[in-house]
Amino acid sequence: MCLLCTMAAGEHGSLRKNMADRLTIGLDIGATKMAFAVVDVAGTVLDETVLPTLSTQPYAQTVERIAAQLNTYLAEYPLIEGIGIGVPGPINREAGVVLNAVNLGWQNCPLRDDLLAHLTRTLPVYIENDVNVGLISEYFYGKAKDMTHCVYLAIGTGLGGAVIINDQLMRGATYMEMEIGHYAIDPVNGRQCTCGQRGCVEMSISGKGLVSNATAHHADYPDTLIPVDDITTYAIIEAARHDDELATFVIDEAAEVLGQLCAWCTMIFNPNLIVLGGGLSHGIYDLVIEKTRAEMRKHCLPQSYDAVSIELSHSINAAMGASALVWYFQKESQLS
Ligand SMILES: [Zn+2]
Repeated sequence: MCLLCTMAAGEHGSLRKNMADRLTIGLDIGATKMAFAVVDVAGTVLDETVLPTLSTQPYAQTVERIAAQLNTYLAEYPLIEGIGIGVPGPINREAGVVLNAVNLGWQNCPLRDDLLAHLTRTLPVYIENDVNVGLISEYFYGKAKDMTHCVYLAIGTGLGGAVIINDQLMRGATYMEMEIGHYAIDPVNGRQCTCGQRGCVEMSISGKGLVSNATAHHADYPDTLIPVDDITTYAIIEAARHDDELATFVIDEAAEVLGQLCAWCTMIFNPNLIVLGGGLSHGIYDLVIEKTRAEMRKHCLPQSYDAVSIELSHSINAAMGASALVWYFQKESQLS
């Protein structure tokens, strides 16, 4: 008999095994592909599949293709206890409705109910926007593990954010929380953003921001290595690594605005950690981090600045990250 509980010797081992046997499915729906994964509670991926999204296909047919793959896994892994789904766009998470996923052409789609109508068994299905999924995956498996207060900035083609305060994901009144990329820091003279404003944060720190800035100033730098007919994020980063003046100008502006953004997040949320996620973060981290930290320090109170660190996101499989939604919502329901 164990000295600490009523279990017979050896039973703890089987308890751990039972925990590891707890399974979920994660599904990341992107504009071009849908990634599925069967994941155990320790974050081990047991199975994975990628299907094309075919975003021009009618929603109903896409739902049928998703359900067919989910049913394959449900038949193969009877211990699956929930499904977590990440979608690019705002979600009514209580109703499981995708409000507006522009890249998928989905508006007001009741994805959860539509999937449950096709699944061979009823189980919890949780849907979140992909930026919140990014933070939840860091919180369970990545850099934000064991953190109670953290901010996640997803820097890719655009810029979005997510926040966990006191172990709870921050939610807005109309599912539009942390749309920080469209805060206009230079509304008069800034570059035009697709949202209609000028000088949004993401016009400086995002893929489209870097390209827009390099395009606007290309004529001022006739010796630049960035070809005028191929101004891409990749070309800008490559040129910055060769000390190109235009690229350095563009990257320095990105670093400065990112530093201001990190300062706002620090002053508002007082986190212990800011995680930089998204593809562009990984491409420019070493080029910006020193300047970003210096700029951030200028705009923070010392007690806030000293408490927070900035880290690059763990490189996590997006479907595996979505699977963590099941554990997150189980935990949240226990807290409330
Ligand atoms: Zn904007």
